[in-house]
Amino acid sequence: MLSWVSKILRMKFLSLLGLLSVALVAGVLVSPSLTPSQAQQPAPSNPAATSPAATPTPGRVAGSAASPFGTQTPQGGLNIVVLDPAHGGTDPGARGTGGIRESEIVLDFAVQVRRALELQGFQVVQTRQGNENPSFDDRSATANAQRGAVFVTLHISSTGLPGTARVYVNSDLPPVANAGGLIPWDRAQAPFLGLSKAFGDLVQGFLAQRFKGSPDTAQSASVRQLRTTAAPAIAVEVSSVTVEDRADLDRMAPGVADAIARGTAAFKPSYVVPSTPGALP
Ligand SMILES: [Zn+2]
Repeated sequence: MLSWVSKILRMKFLSLLGLLSVALVAGVLVSPSLTPSQAQQPAPSNPAATSPAATPTPGRVAGSAASPFGTQTPQGGLNIVVLDPAHGGTDPGARGTGGIRESEIVLDFAVQVRRALELQGFQVVQTRQGNENPSFDDRSATANAQRGAVFVTLHISSTGLPGTARVYVNSDLPPVANAGGLIPWDRAQAPFLGLSKAFGDLVQGFLAQRFKGSPDTAQSASVRQLRTTAAPAIAVEVSSVTVEDRADLDRMAPGVADAIARGTAAFKPSYVVPSTPGALP
């Protein structure tokens, strides 16, 4: 359930105030309810914005042709899928009246999504394996540490017609300014928005074939997990936790897994790491 994102972040914001950089705080405060023009207000200028403590240097993850990892250059194309079962730990996500917890269902979905992706030849890296709750930055950092990766976060909604599934990509972000050759952490997704939309449309197309009543194309929303991710990134949201019997959701898992795997395979030929100010010399 994506609306949890901003709520939880505001709670976390209070306890983390003073620990996080201005960039992160500015990112946290962008609410999904903001209009695009409001959401595009530039973050306060602050040198700290380009290098939050305890996070990888954003510029290193934003698409250098000179890979520090040797053979896994962008020319090698898409090889890795970072799979993010949302929520977890103290955050159960959306909860249905029947006791269904989003955080548990997405973990079960992830098992099947992983298997389908591996059958397509992709390497899968999960942001969590069990009931832990990595921070949003931890999850993005997992993705940003990979080369030739896409990012997929899995959610179960509390809304929407049961039996349907939607793909979201991040809404437009402020243009990336050249901040000393680095991309601000809270706008890491900006150079990848076009690729994310292409990737999201492909996955949504396969979901629409399988789950009648689903949209034909990906939609835009302010999704916290996506904004700090320097890779093509989508959120897949399945409806819904309101079903009486969780078997209704379990039955959707193979189709969701298949759509994500097919969409990723279809996207692979068009995967090109964009040239950005974050590229290393
Ligand atoms: Zn969720």
